[in-house]
Amino acid sequence: MLLSTMYHHINCDQFSNDLESFEQHLTYVVDRFDIVVPGDTLSKKKDNLCLTFDDAYFDFYYYVFPLLKKYQIKVILAVPTALISDSTDLTPYLRMSLNHKEIYQEKNYQKYGSFCTWDELREMQDSGFVVMASHSHTHKDLTGKNINLQEEIVASKRILEEKMQTEIESFILPFGRYDYNSFTLLQKHYRYIFKVGQGVNYDFRGVRGLIYRIDGDELEDDRSIFSFRSILGYRIKSLAKTLHDGILDR
Ligand SMILES: [Zn+2]
Repeated sequence: MLLSTMYHHINCDQFSNDLESFEQHLTYVVDRFDIVVPGDTLSKKKDNLCLTFDDAYFDFYYYVFPLLKKYQIKVILAVPTALISDSTDLTPYLRMSLNHKEIYQEKNYQKYGSFCTWDELREMQDSGFVVMASHSHTHKDLTGKNINLQEEIVASKRILEEKMQTEIESFILPFGRYDYNSFTLLQKHYRYIFKVGQGVNYDFRGVRGLIYRIDGDELEDDRSIFSFRSILGYRIKSLAKTLHDGILDR
């Protein structure tokens, strides 16, 4: 079995975990699961877990990256390529001073350096502990009106590959949303497509071509999202999705 979790911020007001409880959670998952990224051989003895972080906020670089080195684990980072700048001279304090909503208001993230820079992304990739995924170009809902799917799906991959000098195989759906057109284009360009969805996967082929992720933000404790009862719920959800054949309702 393959589980995947989704996280956003550390020490922010929303979509976040505080650092101390997140580290506790991490020590629990390292013990209980085999931590994997796409392409890894899955363990048969233990359940497998793929940890994913969305949006590449600077707090990932500041708080999570050191933990990955400490516990020697690999994770996926979902990068919206239009929101990344080359470098910044701002202090970490300033870069993490906005709350989640403020980051996006009037493009404050540009002024405050709220996202990782390309330099930081390269440093993390070079460490071997962070694998980059495209999270579209402008982080828009791919099913919205006037969406340029070529730019969001194809150009974001090309930009990321040029900046990172490596092949990008994974795409993480912004807001977990897709339709027939976007899904068809995604399947042409990516081997692994992740969404939110509180489901389990058998392996990296996912459920009907989508890897389901469990929401790991605002954790109540270090393990309850992996309780027997929770996992039973994820299994039922995935089974229902497997049996359902409506392509627009994946
Ligand atoms: Zn996102």
